Amino acid sequence: MALVVTKFGGTSVGDTDRIRNVARRLVARKQAGDDVVAVVSAMGHVTDELVDLARQICSTPPDREMDMLLSTGEQVSIALLAMAIHAEGVEAISFTGAQVGIVTDGVHSKAKIAEVRADRVRQALRDGYIVIVAGFQGMTPDGQITTLGRGGSDTTAVAVAAGIDADVCEIYTDVDGVYTADPRIVESARKIDAISYEEMLEMAAGGAGVLQMRSVEFARNHGVVIHCRSSFHDGPGTIVKEADETMEQAIISGVTHDTSEAKITLRDVPDKPGVAAEVFTALADANVNIDMIIQNVSEQGTTDISFTTPKDDLDRASSALGKIVAELGARDWQVDDSVAKVSLVGAGMKTHPGIAAQMFRTLADAGVNIDMISTSPIRISCVIAADQIQSAVNALHDSFGLENEDVTAVTSPGCGEGE
Ligand code: ASP
Ligand code: MG
Repeated sequence: MALVVTKFGGTSVGDTDRIRNVARRLVARKQAGDDVVAVVSAMGHVTDELVDLARQICSTPPDREMDMLLSTGEQVSIALLAMAIHAEGVEAISFTGAQVGIVTDGVHSKAKIAEVRADRVRQALRDGYIVIVAGFQGMTPDGQITTLGRGGSDTTAVAVAAGIDADVCEIYTDVDGVYTADPRIVESARKIDAISYEEMLEMAAGGAGVLQMRSVEFARNHGVVIHCRSSFHDGPGTIVKEADETMEQAIISGVTHDTSEAKITLRDVPDKPGVAAEVFTALADANVNIDMIIQNVSEQGTTDISFTTPKDDLDRASSALGKIVAELGARDWQVDDSVAKVSLVGAGMKTHPGIAAQMFRTLADAGVNIDMISTSPIRISCVIAADQIQSAVNALHDSFGLENEDVTAVTSPGCGEGE
């Protein structure tokens, strides 16, 4: 008998037939003797539709009300799933994030989980129920409803798994697992059997959409084993866990790409102490996420600073910069949203020299110009033109032989869009 937390994304609960399917799977699992919790997302594109409704009312809706609105999507799917399980003759009970004690900070639309009380989940399991929990939402200590950022149901699932000390957190999705590259772009992309938290985090940072990055962080911090698998069949997916000797040693694990970011360049910024601090403090105060940052060579006392940020944060970034640019004495700023990021991830690059050189050579041979570069100990990312992303990802996947398990002996991660 196992204690499992499962998570089903929006596609898996996209209509009533699919909800019935999920219900039957959960019932089968329960009848096989497992204790089962299911975390679900809103049906299909409901969250997008709610965002769209809000935008029709006003361009910058109040964050608190946005969370109030978006959290309703999951409340629909949990109730329907619980009903579908009842229809199978099995007891189920649904809970909102607040009801199960997902306590978050007060940063609306990207709240962080501070604590999972989960007493109610444990009690309901003891009482014999299949427990259904709304993904993506929580509550502040003073009772405000919050959401955890797009894709946040993955994080809810991992948090609940940590909170009840589950044996595994199974994330069911519309791809088979983690791949060496996005299989929609690279025909020879390969599914990886097991990958470490560290590599998975870098894959997610590089744009692999299959698991929300925050969920992997949470899993690493709390030692939750994630099984990322297909909601369409029972075959094994990808296990994400602490690196161990059963994993093959990878030099390069995968190539990811990300087209969700834009580049902002601040021009002719005075080159003196404190300026960068001021710029990035203003952006942080406006809750703008920053990815890469580059400062150019200083000429005649001024310099250009470029950084990348999610396109979703562009409005907030622009209004934050608007307030400080004059006061800083900078000339202006420019937004370029036709960029994309391609990343190479692999724990082996720490000990193998020449990986960066091979990456840049490969891109050059493919006629791809590199705009910005950043690295972590196990990732190299390049910002390039968005319209060259497909050829860049394919060239790198080829160059590092990622299609061939025997040659590279990798524990590779991969990307998929996920739900
Ligand atoms: N429904 C939310 C979203 O679309 C959360 C999730 O699906 O994980 O982002
Ligand atoms: Mg998802």
